[in-house]
Amino acid sequence: MIAFANELGAAHARTLVKAACSAQRVFFSVPEMDRSLDGSNPVEGKEVYVPIVDGSLNLIKEGAGTTRSRLPVMLDRGQVERFKGISKLEIARLGDLDGTRYFAVDLPHRELFGSVLDGAKAVSRIPLIVEDMDERHVAVLSYARGLMWFHRNTRFCTMCGSTMNSVNEGRGRACGGCEKTVYPRIDPAVITLVANGNKCLLGRKASWPKGRYSLLAGFAEVGETLEDTVYREVKEESGVDIDRNSVKYHSSQPWPFPRSLMIGFSVNALSTKIELDENELEDVRWFDKEFIRARLRLGGNEEFNIPPKYALANRMISEWIAE
Ligand SMILES: [Zn+2]
Repeated sequence: MIAFANELGAAHARTLVKAACSAQRVFFSVPEMDRSLDGSNPVEGKEVYVPIVDGSLNLIKEGAGTTRSRLPVMLDRGQVERFKGISKLEIARLGDLDGTRYFAVDLPHRELFGSVLDGAKAVSRIPLIVEDMDERHVAVLSYARGLMWFHRNTRFCTMCGSTMNSVNEGRGRACGGCEKTVYPRIDPAVITLVANGNKCLLGRKASWPKGRYSLLAGFAEVGETLEDTVYREVKEESGVDIDRNSVKYHSSQPWPFPRSLMIGFSVNALSTKIELDENELEDVRWFDKEFIRARLRLGGNEEFNIPPKYALANRMISEWIAE
């Protein structure tokens, strides 16, 4: 008999919530998961499959509780075997967690699986995944989504144009024509807290919610050290010079939407004059620590607010104003 997704999800939710540590977690990270493929961590045949629709959508269900009540849809092997009869499925092994082996499975057409996935909602936006969901579930969903995005976007060989196929239990893809093998690539992006005494530099993009300000950020380019990227991005986005010797690593955060790694740094400014490049940001300003503290004490508003708690920028700004 096929177990319904919500029952399976509820059982795993209880296990995960019970085991979740109380310390602050890096969102979208699940360090407890053993990703090794060597079979050194035997499980008792327990397997679950995290479905991703069209390589980019997560499936969730509303739970019965009032807090952290939303659950990821997880499938059992029987369901996946049944779906295999309907369509070719891409499957990748994620890792082992609490005695259960997790896989990601790409469902190419949600409508084909409608009867079993009834009531599930396909979501793309990050806030909709994070909201009211256990943080380890969030991490597993985002990991599955990032890996399935890789499979979806690596269908053909860049050397010879032949079809590529999944290898290494879904951790890579190999070409059927020239034997080229590829693995998921990660894009490193720096996010920088530029301080000048009790002021820090924050900017906003025109597309962001009203009043939203955040740290300056950007992707590393070919041939750069991360320190070079920090210097260049701050200069490009604000015109401010920084003290290269003051660059300090803060922490990092996976951002698999689809494949970034955020790397946080703090630096001291050498200059304060702002030269805004309007192609990059709508506004950049120095904000006083006390101003930020006072606004955030009220939870932020349309005059001033910062990115949500799940973003590294929130953590870095919150820690800085607490110093
Ligand atoms: Zn090839």
